[in-house]
Amino acid sequence: MLIKDIRVHMREAALAAENQYAYAQAWTRHRRAIFCEIQTDTGLVGWGEAYPGFGVAIRDFIEHVYRPILLGQDPRDTEVLWDRCYQRVRDQGRKGVAMVALSAIDIALWDLRGKAAREPVWRQLGGRYRERVPTYATGLFHFPGADPMLILQKRASELVKRGFRAIKLACGFGLGRDIERVRAVRDAIGRDIRLMIDANQAYTATEAIQLANRIAQYNIAWLEEPVPPEDLAGYRRVRAAVPIPIAGGEVEYTHYGIRDLIAADAVDILQPDITITGGFTAYRRILVLAQAHNVAVCPHGWVSAVGLLANVQLCAVIPPLPPRLFEDGPILELDETVNPFGRSLLGATFRMEGDVITVPEEPGLGEGIRLSGVAADEG
Ligand SMILES: [Mg+2]
Repeated sequence: MLIKDIRVHMREAALAAENQYAYAQAWTRHRRAIFCEIQTDTGLVGWGEAYPGFGVAIRDFIEHVYRPILLGQDPRDTEVLWDRCYQRVRDQGRKGVAMVALSAIDIALWDLRGKAAREPVWRQLGGRYRERVPTYATGLFHFPGADPMLILQKRASELVKRGFRAIKLACGFGLGRDIERVRAVRDAIGRDIRLMIDANQAYTATEAIQLANRIAQYNIAWLEEPVPPEDLAGYRRVRAAVPIPIAGGEVEYTHYGIRDLIAADAVDILQPDITITGGFTAYRRILVLAQAHNVAVCPHGWVSAVGLLANVQLCAVIPPLPPRLFEDGPILELDETVNPFGRSLLGATFRMEGDVITVPEEPGLGEGIRLSGVAADEG
């Protein structure tokens, strides 16, 4: 089986006014998705997805930098192809666009590898630790309106009604407002729902410590990205000073980048994103590091249809960290904001009940992705 062609499909949709929101760094008014299609001489097709932040730059990288390396190669040689692509960009592309683009390629190669073997990706990766993947809902951002706290409480209650037992709240809007948001959401959801807080890099270490100490009484499962990702000393200071576990790593790249986070003792919970950090191949190397250092891994998930399927396969193969009789992780982040390129593109093999997704038995990432429609749209 040889790679015959690689195509990139870019999608964008404006969000209706009531579905627009802000996180600590920006407003979100559009939804974008970048899918990568790898065609082979056997007729088998593999699908991948890249985090869409860089738009056409991702497409150019795939088409002009990686495509010439991959044409004519056997897609099942995932380790070798990843290393060849990485070596091509090593000098100027160890992080950023180059790795995001490589993530899409690598996910598509693993999809092909599974389809060629008629096995799910999780079996190709060495077998699954679990048949069902628990998720938590992300969606409590800042929504404009006459009473933002009431909107927040209403949305939080709806998520609980739909069966979510864990919810993440966007913070990083200033200490006073954050404390008000945490109190409002905890009031709305009660004591039994797990509540995570995401500061989206908005604070200094001192501010993050102040925030954590003020909200610890609300039983916070973790505080995510308290400081900018370059501030490893800040991460360490926050982690040493507060009673809440610290999470981070969603914008870190490859096992090399995650190695540095681990070496800095920066986080309790690693959150690499498979559509950013380098796909399955980089992730399996990351998991070896995490296991060796006994650091928990809960994948970041700001993805569309293919990225979600990849995340489910990934969560199936993350080893228990640490192993114990009553396991409680990993928990997958599920985007509960409006995304026209998300679950609506998935076929019957995507099965979710309440907040739990069933790991598919079908080959590759799971058959039934209605992305043939995505490709056909382009005419
Ligand atoms: Mg986050």
